[in-house]
Parts: sequence; structure tokens; C-alpha cells
Amino acid sequence: MRTGIAKIPVQNAFCERCADVIRNRILKDQSVQNLMLFPSESMITFNFNWANQVSEVLNILTRLGYPPEGDEVTTSSYTLPFCKCENKNENYGLMAS
Ligand SMILES: [Zn+2]
Repeated sequence: MRTGIAKIPVQNAFCERCADVIRNRILKDQSVQNLMLFPSESMITFNFNWANQVSEVLNILTRLGYPPEGDEVTTSSYTLPFCKCENKNENYGLMAS
């Protein structure tokens, strides 16, 4: 069986908590192995068994609002990323001062 490692930088930031949500959504649809999400780098890596799995995972990420870096995002296909945690923290910081 031919396998490989996919390293996918995505366009939008996500936090640790939202990384769990993304992981669950991907694993619900795709049986990829060693799925790792790196919030500080906006990077997702996993082992795949066939190339089709990579494009399936990319589709899921795009639907969640995390298209891979370098992808053209048209207005019609654009989804807002669901992670608003970073922005919220910034707002709280401003309100406290
Ligand atoms: Zn978040």
C-alpha cells in the first residue's frame, strides 16, 4: 500500500479548543492516521493511504472555513472560520483597560 504524509498550512488561525472540533470533523469522515493540528502554526499534518484522502480532507477544511494556504477562495465558496476565540480574547483585553 502506498502511503504518504500530508502537511497542510491553512489560511485561518484556530485555537487548541477548535483544533479538537476540526480533528473530530475530519476523523468522522476520513480514516487518516496520526492526524495532528498545530494551532500556533495553522498547520495540519496526517498520514494518508491514498491521494484521494488528501483532497477529501482539504474539502472538509474548506467547508469549515480553513482552506489550504495558496487556494483561491471565491466569495461564493467562502466560509467564515468558526474559531473566534482569538478575537474574543483581544476584545476582552481592550474592554479591561
Ligand atoms: Zn477557537
